[in-house]
Amino acid sequence: MKAYLDHVGIAVADLSASLAFFRDALGLEVHASEEVGSQRVRAHFLPSGAGTSLEVLEATAADSPIGRFIEKRGPGLHHITLRVDDIDAALAHLKARGVRLVDDVARPGAEGALVAFIHPSSAHGVLVELKQPAASVPPLAISRYTVGNLELISLYDGTFRLDGGAMFGVVPKALWEKKTAPDESNRIPMTMRPLLVRDGTRTMLIDAGLGDKETEKFYRMYAADRTRTLDHALAEAGVAPEDIDIVLASHLHFDHAGGFTMRNGMGKVVPRFPNARYVIRRGEWNDARHPHERSRASYLPDNFLPLADAGVIDFIDEDERVMPCVRVQRTGGHTLHHQIIWIESGRDCAVFLADLMPTSAHLPDPWIMGYDLYPMDTLFAKQAFARAVARRETLAFFEHDPVTPAAFITEQQGKLALRSTT
Ligand SMILES: [Zn+2]
Ligand SMILES: [Zn+2]
Repeated sequence: MKAYLDHVGIAVADLSASLAFFRDALGLEVHASEEVGSQRVRAHFLPSGAGTSLEVLEATAADSPIGRFIEKRGPGLHHITLRVDDIDAALAHLKARGVRLVDDVARPGAEGALVAFIHPSSAHGVLVELKQPAASVPPLAISRYTVGNLELISLYDGTFRLDGGAMFGVVPKALWEKKTAPDESNRIPMTMRPLLVRDGTRTMLIDAGLGDKETEKFYRMYAADRTRTLDHALAEAGVAPEDIDIVLASHLHFDHAGGFTMRNGMGKVVPRFPNARYVIRRGEWNDARHPHERSRASYLPDNFLPLADAGVIDFIDEDERVMPCVRVQRTGGHTLHHQIIWIESGRDCAVFLADLMPTSAHLPDPWIMGYDLYPMDTLFAKQAFARAVARRETLAFFEHDPVTPAAFITEQQGKLALRSTT
C-alpha cells in the first residue's frame, strides 16, 4: 500500500486569529474558504507544497463534528488525510493487519472522491482519513463472483440522485451524512446494479435499471447519468440481450423495471430481451396496474404493460424457485409485494436485496427509506434477514450502492457487519 499526505485538518475556535497566524507569522498562502454544509464547517485550504495543504476547520454550528471536537478536546490537530490510488485494496490490506476501521467499505466523499476512516485506536490516537480522489475513481464497471456452481455478474445501468433525507427516513442527517456525502441540493449519489446469474444452462437477469425510454426532462429530474448503461454492462460481460432466458423483477418501480422494455425502430415499446420469460409477482403486478397517489409516480406503465401484450410474463404467487438455485422471498415493506432473491449453490449463499437494503449504509435496522409504503414490515423483514445471515455468511448485493456492488454480511454480537470481497 502506498499513501501520500493530502492534507492535515486543524480544528480552530477563532478562524480569523488562526488565519492571521498561518498567513502573517508562518507565511502560508490562504485560499478562499469553502463551506461544507453537510458537515456544518467552513474550511480554508492553505497550500503547503508538493500537493499537500493545511485545512483549517471552523464549526458553523455547535452540533457540527468540529464543534463537538473543540468542545471536548479544545482546538488543535483534528485529522490527517492520506491519498491512495486504490482505496479498496488499502482497506483490505489494513483489515488483514487487524487494523480497526470506522468504515469497512469505502463510501462517497465530497466531489466524487471515495473516503474511509481508520479508527484512532488503531492509529496511535490519530484520526486518519483515506481518500481516493475522483480522478482515480474508475467509471462504472461490472464485477464477477462465484457462488457454488454459479457465475454472478453485477451489472450497472447508470447513476442517479435522490434526496438523502428520503433515502434514510427517520435517521437524522447528522448520522447519514457520515455514510454518504450529500450534494448542494441534499441529494446522494446512487447506482442501478442489476444482477446476472448463470448456471451453465440458463442466464437470468434480476432487474434491469432505469432503461432508455424516458424524456430528457425525466432523466434531468433524477440527475440520471446515462453515459454508462446496461447496454455497456452487458457488452462488458459478453452477454447479448438474446442470451437472457429469464428476467426476474424484485418489484416494478421504474428504477428496477425501466430496462425491461425498449422502444423499437417504429417507436413501439416492446420487450427488451426477445428470448426471455419475465417472472413477476402477481401482487406487485396488480399494485402497479392500480397505483394510488403515493405509488403512482414510481410505476410507469410502459415498463411492464407491453410485456403482457407480448405474452412473455410468468406470474408467481408464492415464495418459490425460479431457477434450481434461485428462489424469491417476499419481504413487503418497500411495496406490499417487494421481494428479495436468494441464490444458493453448494455451501455458498448470496442474496439480492433490491430495495430492502438499497445501499450498504442501510444495514442497521432503523435505516429504512422514507419511500417505503409499509416501513414496519421493512423492519420485520430486516430482522428476519439478520437471523438468516446469522446462520451463514452471505454475499449481499446492494442494488443502489454508489460504491460497493456486493459485500459479505456477517452477524457479530447481534449486529450485522460487512466484509469486503477484495
Ligand atoms: Zn423501489
Ligand atoms: Zn429502487
